[in-house]
Amino acid sequence: MVKNSDKTKDKDLQPKQVFSNINVKFSNPLPDVHTARVVISSCGWIDTTKGIILIDTLNRRHLAKQVKERIKSKIKYIIYTHGHIDHVGGASVFLDDNPEIIASRYLPDRFDKYKMLAQHRAHINAIQFNVPETLDSINFVYPTKTFLGDLTIKLGDKTFELHTTRAETDDALWVYVPEINAAFIGDLIIGRLFPNIGNPWKSTRFALDWVKTLEKIRAIKPKYIFCNGGGVMLKEEEAIEALDANIEVIHNLHNQVVDFINQGMHITEMIHTVKIPKHLENNPYLSQVYSRVEFFVYNVYRWYHGYFDDNPAHLLPRPEKEVLNEIYDLIGNPQKILKRVNELFTQNQTQLALQILDILIQTEPKNGDARRLRIELMKNLGANDISLMSKNAWFYYVNKDKEFLKSLKK
Ligand SMILES: [Zn+2]
Repeated sequence: MVKNSDKTKDKDLQPKQVFSNINVKFSNPLPDVHTARVVISSCGWIDTTKGIILIDTLNRRHLAKQVKERIKSKIKYIIYTHGHIDHVGGASVFLDDNPEIIASRYLPDRFDKYKMLAQHRAHINAIQFNVPETLDSINFVYPTKTFLGDLTIKLGDKTFELHTTRAETDDALWVYVPEINAAFIGDLIIGRLFPNIGNPWKSTRFALDWVKTLEKIRAIKPKYIFCNGGGVMLKEEEAIEALDANIEVIHNLHNQVVDFINQGMHITEMIHTVKIPKHLENNPYLSQVYSRVEFFVYNVYRWYHGYFDDNPAHLLPRPEKEVLNEIYDLIGNPQKILKRVNELFTQNQTQLALQILDILIQTEPKNGDARRLRIELMKNLGANDISLMSKNAWFYYVNKDKEFLKSLKK
């Protein structure tokens, strides 16, 4: 048996406290620019001689309240860089001065979608972040003004050039302030991390529009780039290096996927075949500790490709469970499956082992040996995984299997 799973720390298995009571870290990186940051969320505000423009609002009200205490002048505008909860969840705290709230025309549809799929979203967020499954208690504050394309706002001594685009979401918006040569780009770049172009739980993202937008931003030659809602600042060469790295990697991976689609490669081969170019593998702006190349590939594939994979057996398939049941009956013996899964695990073929074990788990869900072995496989996958999204998923299901085994004893 492979022993790497021993590296799994108990703390890895525990649900994270990413949404709970944490203190906000403030900074004042430029004379008129302020930022506020928590673990997975940030926002920024810009002083002008006639009031404040707030860009994004943090993810939760109790955190946003700490921001509000710091803001002394009137908030004239709130700008949403997109509708993800970590950018809009705190908005209801900032409404005293009746600010104009500006967003892409597509953003209200996102809020409607979040409400419509609340139950599903609670479930997928629990897996992605390895947190308890709870319904969002977000008070969605809809924009008072929406647009598509370009919009310029003058406030006091500053100009705010707003541009909508499709990137991580279809409702993305970025802001350029020429007087300070700074661009506030939402999640178009997420600090020093590989671009968040693929997410196994979320609808498709827009790699090609995304990279074209980054090229437009690079052409302006901003001295400062504020990422997320504003909490991460990249300045001067750093800003350009981050843009260069993101632009090159998106073009390269996107084009590989397009070539392989045209060649008719199966998606399950494609995710293992597409590789980040060698010279970008250790690029300091492309760390895959959040998202990863395989997720990127799936996403671009889903954007261009229908569900059908060129195998007639998959055009109108019977439920997976029925098929696995048939295969299980042909094998005829659970011990045979467990033995082969253990062999594969010993040979470091953990993913393949997990898929073969699935024949047994789907046919005999209450088989304790199968569940215990699956826990070992997923702990091993988690311990060797640096991407937070997939790591969280492995540990989420480890915990689910443990709960299931406990319930069998009752
Ligand atoms: Zn986002």
